[in-house]
Amino acid sequence: MFEIAIFAAGCFWGVEFSFQNVPGVISTEVGYTGGKTENPVYREVCSGDTGHCEAVKVTFNPSEVSYKDLLEIFFEIHDPTSINRQGFDVGEQYRSAIFCTTAKQLKIATKFKEELEKSGKYKKKIATRIEMAKPFYRAEEYHQKYYQKNGKVGCGIPTKSKNKIKNEKNLSHISYRVTKLKETEPPFTGKYYNFFEKGIYRCVVCGAPLFSSEAKYDSKSGWPSFYDSIQEIKKETDYSHGMVRTEITCKNCGAHLGHLFNDGPEPTGLRYCVNSASLQFEKKD
Ligand SMILES: [Zn+2]
Repeated sequence: MFEIAIFAAGCFWGVEFSFQNVPGVISTEVGYTGGKTENPVYREVCSGDTGHCEAVKVTFNPSEVSYKDLLEIFFEIHDPTSINRQGFDVGEQYRSAIFCTTAKQLKIATKFKEELEKSGKYKKKIATRIEMAKPFYRAEEYHQKYYQKNGKVGCGIPTKSKNKIKNEKNLSHISYRVTKLKETEPPFTGKYYNFFEKGIYRCVVCGAPLFSSEAKYDSKSGWPSFYDSIQEIKKETDYSHGMVRTEITCKNCGAHLGHLFNDGPEPTGLRYCVNSASLQFEKKD
């Protein structure tokens, strides 16, 4: 069963572009919603009098990408503290808003915003309005997949986010799920668990050198295991799945790598248990 999410975060060209290639997203379309008039056209919405905003309707498969993941992207691609403005686009039609299609989405989005507010990530108050979805009017055809068709960069979406999303598109499905959604590949399935060539293992997302084949050993766990790392690996306590574990992530880009255990061999006694899907091997003699 597919689900629908609707987001407004400034000019809809860029917002659609940010969502259209996310794994698990089935389709996207741009349109107008949240206003008072029926069947609005672009010119009317741009005048700012209709109350509608430029929005993107995202149809997604919740078993592949969660609503929360989409919220993460939504907040990442725009400035949610900006009131009725994103970059050069000013007006109520460019407000930051989430239109929920189910009561469950409303609950998740409200909680997400509250937690983000509490995290202190933003200096100003988050202006994003969260409400139940109203009729969504598909925009004129030339607005659909605008960036894809025109290859233009504009609007208020920071390039940094665009690059990030583009990178995600290039990740394989399993790499995306592991590095971004912190999932674990099934044991004995990855490309590196029984692979012992000489070289280095880089972060699959950003290319940072993480592990050397010299510290790799066969832990019989079904996942690539290292007793040491090349550069410092970020460690955080992970309470998921009813266990207390140490999660390891790429310090450079935040990609999830796996977990760290204290049952490794000498000299460190550590076991960096890493998903193959988080790594990219580079041969070196
Ligand atoms: Zn990385």
